[in-house]
Amino acid sequence: MVESPHYTPEHEIFRTNVRRFIEKECLPHRAAWQKACKSPREMWSRAGEAGILCPKVSPEFGGGGGDLWHGFIIIEEQTRACFNELAFYLHSDIIAPYIELYGTDAQRARFLPKMATGEIVAAIAMTEPGAGSDLQAIRTRARRDGDHYVLDGAKTFISNAQNAELIVVAAKTDAEAGARGVSLLLVETPGAEGFTLGRNLKKVGNKVQDTSELFFEGVRVPAENLLGGVEGRGFYQLMQRLPEERLIMAMSAVVQMECAVDETVAYARERETFGRRLVDHQAVRHKLAECRTAATVARAYLERCIDLFIENRFDAQAGAMAKWWTTERCCEVIDECLQLHGGYGYMRETPIARRWADARLGRIAGGTNEIMKDLIGRAL
Ligand SMILES: Cc1cc2nc3c(=O)[nH]c(=O)nc-3n(C[C@H](O)[C@H](O)[C@H](O)COP(=O)(O)OP(=O)(O)OC[C@H]3O[C@@H](n4cnc5c(N)ncnc54)[C@H](O)[C@@H]3O)c2cc1C
Repeated sequence: MVESPHYTPEHEIFRTNVRRFIEKECLPHRAAWQKACKSPREMWSRAGEAGILCPKVSPEFGGGGGDLWHGFIIIEEQTRACFNELAFYLHSDIIAPYIELYGTDAQRARFLPKMATGEIVAAIAMTEPGAGSDLQAIRTRARRDGDHYVLDGAKTFISNAQNAELIVVAAKTDAEAGARGVSLLLVETPGAEGFTLGRNLKKVGNKVQDTSELFFEGVRVPAENLLGGVEGRGFYQLMQRLPEERLIMAMSAVVQMECAVDETVAYARERETFGRRLVDHQAVRHKLAECRTAATVARAYLERCIDLFIENRFDAQAGAMAKWWTTERCCEVIDECLQLHGGYGYMRETPIARRWADARLGRIAGGTNEIMKDLIGRAL
């Protein structure tokens, strides 16, 4: 794996800790968790104890006070172990920043320390059965009633929901106001009357990561749980965070490619056909050369994106470009790598098969790649 120039000795200590946690606390249980299509709730508390939840959140709110690279390290280590199927980053790098950046003082103080210890697992619910790409078309409503909102609607494909105690729900507080009518509500689900956790959906890949339906029927949410305390800011809050989320997805795609190529080169050095190692066939070497080149170009582009991010110039279009381009290349490279594994590549017990199934999600989640091109196209 190509090392990024941004890592300090402190980052490497953090990496050792993360690697130990994955090897000791996750990998031995992978098969059982895959079968259950979820991780056990206690695992999140153990992750909190090990200091790998919310590494970037300010220490004032119980977080690690780290930077972008602490989040990257967790993804790198998960990818190296072929264990991307658990979305720590969703809890720590996507949801916690909403609360830290846009929440009221009371919301930050109340939720972030518990998210850092794993006492609270968080999910974010935007997608609905009838609205995914077109977020403005959501039908979930939050009607103000005294000092509460009354929440009605249905969500689907919600990651982490099986274990979540806190769900950030996108809802219309003003059905007539388009994007300006969308707000984010911090819904505490334990004991919430009218809330139903639906099916844990069966997926092609990312088996350990639970993905669920949610139903809200007259759920009363205290008005103080409106993120930031002002109605109509939800769409803006979501859009503001998307470039960083897409940079994280791009980073994950690049590391997946690098790992897949490394593993496939190793396999091609061992496997023999027609009296020679696979790697000794020129046609195979050319395929491997193409994959290595694609991964190397993607790494260089990723580093450029990181530089833009550091310079505060990584905007919506840059995020969309990074996400669609790297996730498409990732799927192409992993597909070639799977092919070079022959029949073994199609067995779920081989890492390349899991990488193939897990990577496919990158082209759909976080905004589909078609929508990414739309975003870029609009700004041309
Ligand atoms: C495993 C998994 C986990 C997920 N986790 C979460 C989560 O935690 N929280 C959450 O809120 N959501 C989550 N999602 C939902 C995900 O963000 C949506 O699936 C995604 O945004 C696409 O929405 P959709 O599925 O409704 O597809 P649609 O919007 O119905 O799109 C269908 C197809 O049409 C294309 N399309 C749509 N509109 C256009 C257009 N204008 N031009 C060209 N092509 C278009 C799309 O690109 C896609 O190929 C998850 C999804 C999956 C599969």
